[in-house]
Amino acid sequence: MSDLTIQLTDHPKAKPADESKLKFGDLFTDHMLMMDYDEGQGWHDARIVPYGPLALDPAAMCLHYGQEVFEGMKAYRAEDGRILLFRPEQNFARLNLSNDRLCIPPVDEDKMVEYLKEFLRVEKDWVPHSKDTSLYLRPFIIAIDPHLGVHSGKHYYFIVIASPVGAYYPEGLNPVSIYVETKYVRSVRGGTGFTKTAGNYSASLKAQSEAEEKHYTQVLWLDGVERRYIEEVGTMNVFFKIDGEIITPSLDGSILGGITRKSAIELMHSWGLKVTERRISIDELAEAYDAGKLEEAFGTGTAAVISPIGFLDWGDTKKMEIGGGKIGPVSQRLYDELTAIQWGRTKDPFGWSVEVCK
Ligand SMILES: *Cc1c(COP(=O)(O)O)cnc(C)c1O
Repeated sequence: MSDLTIQLTDHPKAKPADESKLKFGDLFTDHMLMMDYDEGQGWHDARIVPYGPLALDPAAMCLHYGQEVFEGMKAYRAEDGRILLFRPEQNFARLNLSNDRLCIPPVDEDKMVEYLKEFLRVEKDWVPHSKDTSLYLRPFIIAIDPHLGVHSGKHYYFIVIASPVGAYYPEGLNPVSIYVETKYVRSVRGGTGFTKTAGNYSASLKAQSEAEEKHYTQVLWLDGVERRYIEEVGTMNVFFKIDGEIITPSLDGSILGGITRKSAIELMHSWGLKVTERRISIDELAEAYDAGKLEEAFGTGTAAVISPIGFLDWGDTKKMEIGGGKIGPVSQRLYDELTAIQWGRTKDPFGWSVEVCK
């Protein structure tokens, strides 16, 4: 028995009538999972409570200095009705990595997975049924001390909210156009780029909105020091297939270590593909393109799983059309096999899929 207390809502909302109209992140379930941290007491009072606004002191530290961390993961409904998670222990391990960098006390990773499963059993009817839909889960931690000095907090909330989301690719996987960002940077080594913390994302908004004005979907981030080495694409990790070899930037502190990235690497290794994690510059990419050796490019992340890149705009230097604007075979196979494991359509030889309930 876990020590989680449960207070159910008296006013459950109607579930979405038409799952094909689900978007991303604008509808939330009936409950949230919460836990408090107070210095001297540790994390305590884990509870499931009705979803609703928080009462925060206007001086709460998270509102001023961004002492916050978060995670992003999904619960999937298999065809036989089972609810599945994908490598949830990895998310809480990464949350603790972020916690450490942001001076937030660590959580008990095994306990968090157990609490999350209990939360999902309460919210199970909110996991949508239609193909490629899921329940997006957003764990996060905020410092709540009412205090304007720049210090780490002594009091925190841990919260998980959940949002049913629609199919990412209702019309199939169409490659996206990407703008190579040479003016703004996302992070630098020694900073917080490897963590999921609010400030990384607010700092990226301007580049994103300028790219959208130019009709690009996302930006390709270059390193913050030499402005040459490729880091990520938007909020996804990035992979290239050059002359038969798969190359992805190595994790050196400024790049977020994606769980989809890690799973894609492990999957491609199991297929016998050569996958190399190393620094790769935009110049090297352009040279490979000119030599006709840039065969595929794609992003990886929980939301889209695989996002094929069809076009890269490196300003006046070079425009690259990759794979004739069509999805490549490795990208397609990764998408098919990862989603088959996530939605329980195939046997999972890796032990990644975790059953929550039948
Ligand atoms: C969350 C995130 C990713 C992808 O991580 P997944 O665990 O695969 O979802 C990549 N880059 C950034 C900046 C992210 O925030």
